[in-house]
Amino acid sequence: MKFLANIARKVLGRSNGQTTPAAAPEQATAAPQPGAKRVITHEQHNIDRRRLDENASKVVYRLTDAGHEGYLVGGCIRDLLMGQRPKDFDVATSAHPEEAHELFRRSRLIGRRFKLLHVRFGREIIEVATFRASHDQPENGAGDKGRQHESGLILRDNVYGTLAEDALRRDFTVNGLYYDLNDHSIIDFADGYEDLQNRTIRMIGEPDARYREDPVRMLRAARFAAKLEFEIEPATAAPINELAPLLRSIAPARLFDESLKLYQSGHAERVYHLMQQYNLFAQLFPQSAAAVKDPQGYPVEELILNALRNTDRRIRQRKSVTPAFLYAALLWYPMQIRMNELLQKEQLPPLQALHEAANEVIGKQVKSTAIPRRFSTPIREIWELQLRLPRRQGKRAERLMEHPRFRAAYDLLLLRENSGEQLDGLAQWWTDYQAANPVQRDHLQHRREHNDDPRKPRRRRRRPNRNHNKSDAPQATSNSRAES
Ligand code: ATP
Ligand code: MG
Repeated sequence: MKFLANIARKVLGRSNGQTTPAAAPEQATAAPQPGAKRVITHEQHNIDRRRLDENASKVVYRLTDAGHEGYLVGGCIRDLLMGQRPKDFDVATSAHPEEAHELFRRSRLIGRRFKLLHVRFGREIIEVATFRASHDQPENGAGDKGRQHESGLILRDNVYGTLAEDALRRDFTVNGLYYDLNDHSIIDFADGYEDLQNRTIRMIGEPDARYREDPVRMLRAARFAAKLEFEIEPATAAPINELAPLLRSIAPARLFDESLKLYQSGHAERVYHLMQQYNLFAQLFPQSAAAVKDPQGYPVEELILNALRNTDRRIRQRKSVTPAFLYAALLWYPMQIRMNELLQKEQLPPLQALHEAANEVIGKQVKSTAIPRRFSTPIREIWELQLRLPRRQGKRAERLMEHPRFRAAYDLLLLRENSGEQLDGLAQWWTDYQAANPVQRDHLQHRREHNDDPRKPRRRRRRPNRNHNKSDAPQATSNSRAES
């Protein structure tokens, strides 16, 4: 009993805003113990209570009213402390998923590997996770609730535990902060509060082992470092390059979801650089990474970066971004390079070569990140339209504009041109054409037929009489980059 009481005291400590007995006054300068509890009072952290999500708070109150423990946890607390708007609010509770399920009418149990409860409020979903414990202690009675492959990979993670145990099962210290709605304090078992202040991403526990348990944590490290502009602490960063290939053991559907989180984080450009630095990009996009290394004369990396900057800008403007466009851009040059090979070696007609190359490239990509059909079909259409956009004579241009994928295809064309691909002003022509009225469109068609673009100075000098009244010239509405 005394032993248990000691452990409990060590792990749970006192709620006094100080570290636990492990950091009693005479040891105040000692390194904090992992698992030492620290409470940060509301006065200290000063999160504006109005910024807490009402529905997530309701979930916590319902759980605590029913006698369970419940906290707001994870990214929402991290982001609020950083003055950012949380993407979602997560709840951690002592209630088992089934027990929690009974408390909420509009709730659904999800996941097998990691069981969770989703509580729905209109369009908002609050994720409720039961406290997890480590698998490797027989007294936790892991049985078939927790399974780990010999590589370290966690196959099932449904061993339940206490708040203190749960804290140490989370990935990074800054993600292990719990908000207690009783007194509006923050509970911290992993010195996440301090790391947050020092802008540091630090793995809880031993980084190598924790990445082996779940390699997706490597992607998460890059995503949070990019989003928060934090440094990945050296010991946390060190194993990533070597362990990155473990991502290949992750289900492609999960990696597709992660890829969207990475690229829709609002910091996709920074994410890309970190992913390249840590050998992560090649795991998720092996064909794109190979094309960046050997671009065969194409502006491969420029196009990727431009697409990501575009996405970041759209997210800042709260506009939607479509995964199909992003994937079409990321895989465009791998597809084009393969298409060129087919054109040269097998002498296929262009459209057939494109279809064949698209099949191959998408077929390889889905081994890394599954691409649901609702996205792979538009990707193919956006690519096919790249072949059709140069053929714009007569009524074709008008017809092309009615294609449901025209806008995305034009955006890709514009990205290609802006990235440095030689397209003889084709994207600019389309920019002008879309902005033009019917009379101006006729002029544009005329200029195209006679290859008489006023922007081409040589032609203008040779045939000045064909240079139409400049005031008739269509004005480009968008002289900037495409909007995806
Ligand atoms: P965001 O919601 O902004 O993407 P987040 O940190 O809230 O970031 P979620 O995926 O919502 O990320 O997960 C909520 C919390 O669950 C995390 O903060 C972390 O504590 C824990 N968590 C999520 N994924 C993992 C993982 N793979 N390993 C360990 N803990 C995890
Ligand atoms: Mg979250």
